[in-house]
Amino acid sequence: MYSQKIQNLSESATIAISTLASELKAKGRDVLSFSAGEPDFDTPQVIKDEAIRALNSGFTKYTAVAGIPELREAICKKLKKDNNLSYTPKQILVSNGAKQSLFNIFQALINDGDEVIIPAPYWVTYPELATYSGGKPVFINTDENSNFKITAKQLKEAITSKTKILVLTTPSNPTGMVYTKAELTEIAQVLKDTKIWVVSDEMYEKLLYGVSFTSVASISDDMMKRTITVNGLSKAVAMTGWRMGYLASVDDKLVKLMDNLQSQCTSNINSITQKASVVALSGDADNDIEMMRDAFEKRRDLGCELINNIAGLSVQKPQGAFYLFINIKGVSRFGGDSMKFCSELLSQEGVALVPGSAFGMEGYVRFSFACSTEQITEGIKRIEKFVRG
Ligand code: PMP
Ligand code: GLU
Repeated sequence: MYSQKIQNLSESATIAISTLASELKAKGRDVLSFSAGEPDFDTPQVIKDEAIRALNSGFTKYTAVAGIPELREAICKKLKKDNNLSYTPKQILVSNGAKQSLFNIFQALINDGDEVIIPAPYWVTYPELATYSGGKPVFINTDENSNFKITAKQLKEAITSKTKILVLTTPSNPTGMVYTKAELTEIAQVLKDTKIWVVSDEMYEKLLYGVSFTSVASISDDMMKRTITVNGLSKAVAMTGWRMGYLASVDDKLVKLMDNLQSQCTSNINSITQKASVVALSGDADNDIEMMRDAFEKRRDLGCELINNIAGLSVQKPQGAFYLFINIKGVSRFGGDSMKFCSELLSQEGVALVPGSAFGMEGYVRFSFACSTEQITEGIKRIEKFVRG
């Protein structure tokens, strides 16, 4: 029989819905998908040029498991320059997307029964990986009044003798909210004198709209020691398919243990991606990154305005990332049932959204605005027709 562990693991809901939308499209249905958390832009040309150079020069062999030295150095430079974090190349592990970084971390830290505190709504992968590693997810529920952010008080109440990890995602997927330095300082105060690790997922750090960003580890020496910083190139540089993510920790031994794990399952990430990633981090693609950020900001403004004009729907303006987390509680015929809302919307209007239930919060649906303004306008027109009934 199959292992109990694997049978308990769910498929990624965000990927499942995006795949379903693509299948319906391939069958000829007129489907507009707002389900994938994936930039619609192409990878900047300078990065592709470097990949082609690497390929043509025969850079096609195994590399160090943790990544080529020049890439780990480029990551250290980025973390110092953008985030004021000092790491050495030995403290960096490059993986097949931030997803594998998270997998490595949970496997390396969790013993059976350890608790992982996850603020809800959360990105779909955290509870699954925590459980798969033998841990127990403990959710802290947030709401619109706190801009979907946890408070220091809530954290204090959630901590037990079994708490091993706190996961923080800023900017958040699915809400787009960004923790301020003051909020993180209060959280740091609660963690002081505990043995709790912090996993700081900073995947959407480059997609900010008029707010400043603080890396969790930069709050204090204590936070630097307990935090594992996770980031990658998928979202900021439109490189989802290249599979480049990384983690950083000042605990050399922990990084080495995760390197051992990776050496036994996947080894290094694609060698060509590594060369291209050095260029992506070098600053040569910064104009492209800013062009994408600027386009996302305009789409966010458009999406929020159109949604907030629909009776029964409302959305708080996200400060980062590229998702609208839309409140559907005012559409009385659904009673807040996000799955029912999404499946009827897909079958009646051909619009794919992700139900809030996948992110641990009913009464909401996630709309990705990582697509053209024309698609946003047309999609929301269909949503309006659907909501009117
Ligand atoms: N963290 C968050 C919050 C995400 O939304 C994603 C999206 N896939 C990831 C991590 C993982 O990204 P990737 O594996 O493509 O680096
Ligand atoms: N993180 C993206 C999302 O939330 C991509 C899909 C996934 O990796 O689950 O949609």
